Amino acid sequence: MIPAAFDYHQPGTLAEALKLLKEHGNEAKVLSGGMSLLPMLKLRLASFEHLVDINRVPGLDYIKEKGGNLCIGAMTRQATLERSDVIKSKFPILADAVPLIADPLVRNRGTIGGNVANGDPGNDQPAIMIALGATYVAQGSKERTVAANQFYKGLYDTALARNEILTEIRIPMPPARSGGAYTKLKRKTGDFAVAAAAVQVTLGKNGAIESARIALTNAGLTPVEAVDAGKYLSGKMPDDKTLMEAAKMAAAKSSPSADVRGSVEYKKEMARVLTARALKSAVQRAGAN
Ligand code: FAD
Repeated sequence: MIPAAFDYHQPGTLAEALKLLKEHGNEAKVLSGGMSLLPMLKLRLASFEHLVDINRVPGLDYIKEKGGNLCIGAMTRQATLERSDVIKSKFPILADAVPLIADPLVRNRGTIGGNVANGDPGNDQPAIMIALGATYVAQGSKERTVAANQFYKGLYDTALARNEILTEIRIPMPPARSGGAYTKLKRKTGDFAVAAAAVQVTLGKNGAIESARIALTNAGLTPVEAVDAGKYLSGKMPDDKTLMEAAKMAAAKSSPSADVRGSVEYKKEMARVLTARALKSAVQRAGAN
């Protein structure tokens, strides 16, 4: 289908983009990679009178270590993340996930900012950012930060105000003996997850789990953080029985809907299996660090 008519704006600076958003209020929408927004407009699931394309705004495309964080500019493409050495060496959870997002064509256009700002529970990076304890930087009339686990309010509903642009994702650099993993079940390349689990753990010197964060993709209207399962793991030795119990607790937190990807029971069971696998892999990686 053809989208409803809209005015297309191509600001050359962040200030210009913010001015347009302020001017047009609820009728304006930010366009980055367009890989989620354009299909929605074409299917007429949404329409906006003004699209503010931020592809020409400079300075939003970078991956750099600063102040104990890995800072990723919102306009960084998935394909850039896929090739990043720091992600390959220090963030295996992201290195696992990025090649499983959509397909190479979509990853060439799609941005990390769009993925986390979209508010679609099927997007993979929100759960990963929650597991990593990331913070999002929003620029409006002033700059503010929002923790990833406070950002998702409902289906396509986030803490971002209409006059704000997400500019940066800040991920704390993991301490020694940390490891992460992302496990995803999908029916075919280019499909969203049936279920997926993001896990980040840090081990103590004695090999016990010091901290663990678990979050699930496509397990409800927002990404689901399994806080209880993370707390349960804290202080325990990561033996199979303990990891299985935590996976069970995480899956119990999920509330997926039945659809073409499977029944509620199947998706919950897959959430359990995938969490168990991600936990095992994250612990192994942490032990090797
Ligand atoms: P856009 O489509 O431009 O924008 C998406 C939303 O975010 C819009 O509401 C927009 O206003 C808002 N937005 C974008 N950037 C900003 C910003 N900087 N500040 C404020 N708001 C902003 N994703 C997955 O995670 N996993 C998958 O398996 C997957 N499979 C896909 C398969 C196909 C065939 C397609 C077409 C897409 C798939 N996607 C998948 C979605 C893809 O990853 C999108 O690129 C991503 O969801 C949105 O990124 P974008 O840069 O394209 O954002």
